[in-house]
Amino acid sequence: MSSTQTPSFPSRLPMVGTTVFTVMSALATDHQAINLGQGFPDFPCDRNLIAKVNEAMLTDRNQYPPMIGIAELRNGIAQKIQNLYGHTYNPETEITITAGGTQGILTSILSCVSPGDEVVIIEPAYDSYRPSIDLAGGKTISVALEVMRDTSGQVSSYAIPWDALAKAINAKTRLIIINTPHNPTGMVWERADLNRLADLVRNTSTLILSDEVYEHMVFDGAKHYSVASHPELATRSFLISSFGKTYHVTGWKVGYVAAPTSLTKEFRKVHQFNVFTVNTPMQYGLAAYLTDASHYLDLPAFYQAKRDFFRSGLNKTGFKLLPTPGTYFQCVDYSGLNIPQTKLNEADFCKWLTSNIGVAAIPVSAFYDQATESGVVRFCYAKQEQTLTSALQRLQNL
Ligand code: GLN
Repeated sequence: MSSTQTPSFPSRLPMVGTTVFTVMSALATDHQAINLGQGFPDFPCDRNLIAKVNEAMLTDRNQYPPMIGIAELRNGIAQKIQNLYGHTYNPETEITITAGGTQGILTSILSCVSPGDEVVIIEPAYDSYRPSIDLAGGKTISVALEVMRDTSGQVSSYAIPWDALAKAINAKTRLIIINTPHNPTGMVWERADLNRLADLVRNTSTLILSDEVYEHMVFDGAKHYSVASHPELATRSFLISSFGKTYHVTGWKVGYVAAPTSLTKEFRKVHQFNVFTVNTPMQYGLAAYLTDASHYLDLPAFYQAKRDFFRSGLNKTGFKLLPTPGTYFQCVDYSGLNIPQTKLNEADFCKWLTSNIGVAAIPVSAFYDQATESGVVRFCYAKQEQTLTSALQRLQNL
């Protein structure tokens, strides 16, 4: 090796490339397509929230906050969880502010998974789970959601694979990762599902990581069942949530992890040497905004209206709509469209849809490690009505 050459080393994540969200957003930009791929709102957040952050900055809240997050925000989160889910987390010892949900997930995994430990995930799964487990030296055991089909063979819904989950859990299972409301399918867990999960892990030393970043997007009058609403699960769970989805500020990257004291103690050991602290003015702004519960209590109606508007437009296309009880994602089966591109795999179909039809989507196969094709793609409908209308016009020409 010459002295001017950068030394090479084995990649810690050899299988990882650029995330599908970044790839599809770039493709959408290249083709000036309407971006219904990566999940983020295209409308502004509340000016009052920005004013509260401005006020924090202008009143010199600009130095390091406490490592665990400012008390006002942790107290507000504890209060919210108590009100909604009935569990009391001690804000001093059980709630930590993170730089978004993804950091909360990685740090939770790094704090409890040792080399050789097994971690069970349910695919389709959010793309950060597996690399986070890899970084911890853990072994990912994936079980697949059951794909239910109608008589014509099109995907109609998904079901939790209880038998496969039961088989996957053994003495080496350190952690099970669940996600409700679920990205990408939009499915939500019911109380009975939490009970079944509790049955599976009772008398084991398996922990739970529950990714609930879409907790305030559950529709048709249904409830979100958090692990915090289940006393038995709460005692062994890292509960992850985020303000980005709830307050239309995905770029602020502020979230939190609530977990029993012993889990939080280990979590904070990793957190303090990873991000150390999360930016101060955002925390003050969010803490002030959080005192008004209407900002999250109004969210289901807000997104349900968008979902219903988008679905009624999609009903005029050849896409088969899957149910969307939660999240801001709508999955569709494209196999019934009357075009030759139905033969394409999901990733190629999304590329074609972006470059030729001008609407970007995300292939559900990207949420599986071993690409699993079911002819389903995901749209994000967290968009202004005029964005959705333009996208629907293009999709209705298919
Ligand atoms: N959570 C977002 C989604 O599923 C994307 C976040 C990201 O781009 N990493 O679309």
